[in-house]
Amino acid sequence: MTRNAANKALADRDLAVVWHPCTQMKDHEQLPMVPIARGEGVWLQDFDGNRYLDAVSSWWVNLFGHANPRINAAIRTQLDSLEHVILAGFTHEPVVQLSERLVRLAPAGLTRCFYADNGSSAVEVAVKMSFHFWLNRGQPAKRRFITLANSYHGETLGALAVGDVGLYKQVYQPLLMDVITVPSPDCYHREAGESWEQHSRRMFEAMEHTLAEHAHEVAAVIIEPLVQCAGNMRMYHPAYLALLREACDRHGVHLIADEIAVGFGRSGTMFACEQAGIRPDFMCLSKGLTGGYLPLSVVLTTDEVYSAFYDDYARLSAFLHSHSYTGNPLACAAALATLDIFASDDVITANRSLAATMREAVEAQLGDHPNVAEIRQTGMILAVEWVKDRRTRECFDWRERRGLRLYQHALSRGALLRPIGNVVYFMPPYVITPGQLGFLAEVAREGIDLACA
Ligand code: PMP
Repeated sequence: MTRNAANKALADRDLAVVWHPCTQMKDHEQLPMVPIARGEGVWLQDFDGNRYLDAVSSWWVNLFGHANPRINAAIRTQLDSLEHVILAGFTHEPVVQLSERLVRLAPAGLTRCFYADNGSSAVEVAVKMSFHFWLNRGQPAKRRFITLANSYHGETLGALAVGDVGLYKQVYQPLLMDVITVPSPDCYHREAGESWEQHSRRMFEAMEHTLAEHAHEVAAVIIEPLVQCAGNMRMYHPAYLALLREACDRHGVHLIADEIAVGFGRSGTMFACEQAGIRPDFMCLSKGLTGGYLPLSVVLTTDEVYSAFYDDYARLSAFLHSHSYTGNPLACAAALATLDIFASDDVITANRSLAATMREAVEAQLGDHPNVAEIRQTGMILAVEWVKDRRTRECFDWRERRGLRLYQHALSRGALLRPIGNVVYFMPPYVITPGQLGFLAEVAREGIDLACA
């Protein structure tokens, strides 16, 4: 079998049995499936020897490249001693060490780690824990959640309910709990002459009013700090987070920070909350937690929350939530190796110049493009919003699916760029080079030209 035939053979076998995530499978009547044989660094390689630069870090999970030798070695070593063990009643070195290190790294006061195995499940844990905290403290009326417009927290029913991306949520609405949705501080909508900070502060007024009116029935506010990633990579100023923390304290409401996408350096700091100097009551982490290797998530919370569940068994106040693969040792070993790389390579500092290079590369290609309404950036996340007309910001009809043209063009040029609506973004592994960033910017410019033609 030639290598080209191997590509096709696997794609055909796939389409006979696999139902892919977030995909209209009929699209694959036209759109070729991309079989991947191996990964190395920022590159994914198919069976035909074609390479694709993974500009989206395989759904925002990969931090230090595919087949990273240090993470590979850590998993291999762990494999020789313990692959998995039930975490109820049993423990192991990697989960204890990981918890100790996360507590040291996280905003001070987040002292307890509860594990799950994906981002949505971490959100479910935080939502259930917050509700249950108030119940255990004799305040059963506090059972609702406040969320931001355009937010995304995952696909399981609880996580979907506290999110607000209509494309994913609307059809399941009859199955979802009722939430209170507050306008987003999204700075794309700031007025002419208004700074990000001014806009974010002004948008906080709606949150303040909502908290004042509903605090008695609200358990928590849930937010994605600084970047609403699945919501078209919309961004806002840290001042909003500082105001929110203060208001949640004043109104007696928890703050859940979903750092699943923005954690581990994506926002420019280890955790986005650091930029506002705040400590949430719950911090959800996943994706980059294992460097993009294995499914793992964790909710960090406070001693105050922990102690509300700590009692004699017969009082039935324990948090009786579990997932089979909770705290998997191989995933914890990958996470520890990932944290080792952060520590030894001073990644956050190195990323500052990488982020500046990314901005320069994209500005050079797209800064004055007639269809580009905005180039925005928070740390290692950069997004380009394209429109019909730069002045009016009128959008193309979503039914035209112009992003698909960009996606296909990028593949033909050897890049994996996966636009969300009319936004193309870069969230690459941190091992990307300035030359590769230049290449991505060029491909994005060509793709936008094609998409807008
Ligand atoms: N929260 C945020 C902010 C996310 O970006 C995502 C995933 N894109 C999730 C939660 C859900 O994580 P998972 O896909 O692992 O369930």
